[in-house]
Amino acid sequence: MGKIYDVLVIGGGIVGTAVLDRLSRYNLDCLLVEKSDDVASFSTRANSGIVHAGYDCEPNTLKAKFNVLGNALLWKDAEDLGVKHLKCGSIVVAKDGQEAQIKRLEEKAKANGVEVEIWDREKTLAFEPNIADDISMCLYAKSAGVVSPYQLAIAYADRAILNGAKIELEAEVKSIVKKADNFEVNTSKGRFEAKIILNCAGENGVAINEMIGAEYYETSYRRGDYFILDNTQRKFVNTVIFPLPTAAGKGILVAPTADGNVIYGPTSIQTVKDDTASSLDSLDEIRRNVPLSYKNPTFNKCIRIYSGLRTIIGHDFVIGESKVVNNFIMAIGICSPGLTSAPAIAEHLKDLVVSKLGGQVKENIVIKLPENKGLLELDEKDLNDLIAKDDAWGRIVCRCEKVTEAEVVRAIHSPLPATTVDAVKRRTRAGMGRCQGGFCGPRVMEILSRELGVPLDKVRKGNGEDSNIAVCKVKEVE
Ligand SMILES: Cc1cc2nc3c(=O)[nH]c(=O)nc-3n(C[C@H](O)[C@H](O)[C@H](O)COP(=O)(O)OP(=O)(O)OC[C@H]3O[C@@H](n4cnc5c(N)ncnc54)[C@H](O)[C@@H]3O)c2cc1C
Repeated sequence: MGKIYDVLVIGGGIVGTAVLDRLSRYNLDCLLVEKSDDVASFSTRANSGIVHAGYDCEPNTLKAKFNVLGNALLWKDAEDLGVKHLKCGSIVVAKDGQEAQIKRLEEKAKANGVEVEIWDREKTLAFEPNIADDISMCLYAKSAGVVSPYQLAIAYADRAILNGAKIELEAEVKSIVKKADNFEVNTSKGRFEAKIILNCAGENGVAINEMIGAEYYETSYRRGDYFILDNTQRKFVNTVIFPLPTAAGKGILVAPTADGNVIYGPTSIQTVKDDTASSLDSLDEIRRNVPLSYKNPTFNKCIRIYSGLRTIIGHDFVIGESKVVNNFIMAIGICSPGLTSAPAIAEHLKDLVVSKLGGQVKENIVIKLPENKGLLELDEKDLNDLIAKDDAWGRIVCRCEKVTEAEVVRAIHSPLPATTVDAVKRRTRAGMGRCQGGFCGPRVMEILSRELGVPLDKVRKGNGEDSNIAVCKVKEVE
């Protein structure tokens, strides 16, 4: 008989990786299966990266509870994991005549236990000079900020591996069979058995439920499109600027990113599963809405547009054990504020698993990841010392983001190795600058080819066999 895992997590988004991270501290055998070539490759890759304070969730919902708890846990996790973050606060801006809506948010904040303040125009301007001319007040929340969502998920995955968990990438779950005591999970990479399943499959959450006859939930999807601007714009944005929320969501915001860019977006377009293609109408909606809260939008500094998909089940998250299938636990319908909530959801699911299986915290677990500084964070002496040991530190691969060859090599040999150009990009930022990989792309390909021992035309951009970049050699040199 093959190995039987204690827990098998389906899905390597922020929820799956966070829960694997928490479980890996216990003497439990844990496996995460992810259908893509990397973790953080769906909703977790493309969102606003806001660590929400939690003032606008309906009180007494799972969203309110996990958002507020998650906010505090996330700041600590980001610190321990060395993931870029900025606790810059957030403001919801309003005009004359909208006082009642700001007051309502303040009441919700109180009910959710979130500290907020209402500021007049003068105080708002002193904090954020570029608000639109007719903004007369704001609701300020100091516990909000921004984090790199994909780097957080990657860091959770790395730490989980260092603490003994296993991750199988390109392992899409195709079917699940309930046996006497365990589940048999059939994936595109083989069969795995486990005592408990955690369904963290994001947009496929309900499809996974259906495989095992667990609860069915009506699901809807909302796409959010964004403009991302180059880092010259960062100096104009100090905080996260929200408009007043509407029934469709938190509205189109202006925010710094943890890596020093600025984003405008997202929209909230009712759509279908898998749709992450930005539309012109949606981008026009952003163009129309940004100036309502932010005075000087600079759309000409846009370096890329992107979009992400929210998976929505009713009005709240679905978290807990199935009432139909024992030991089948769900964390699905995790739309916004799912990134912020993930560490708290993970603690909750870990407690649920430990209450079922038992389990002791292991000795010598890793909490702080080794500091992985990049060229821009190193001082001159440290950089020279590194170059003396390894001259790859002296070779710049990405000119826009100043990423060295050594950083790319480190990403390829990290606990959860980067094996594609996009996976290197998410770990190092090579390709995220103004030229969007025009310069560094071929160099990253060469390094991947060398380090992984694969021919250049087999190096892939991202997920899937058909995502290789080079098709064949144009010139054969004998
Ligand atoms: C536009 C937008 C803006 C947002 N902004 C914010 C924000 O600012 N702050 C915030 O807190 N939250 C925000 N969110 C919400 C947040 O992004 C999500 O809640 C979170 O990413 C959901 O994580 P997840 O792990 O549930 O799903 P995902 O990240 O989608 O992960 C699910 C994983 O399961 C894998 N999978 C699916 N099917 C299978 C299968 N059959 N076998 C194996 N693996 C499978 C997928 O490949 C995927 O990697 C936003 C979301 C969107 C879309």
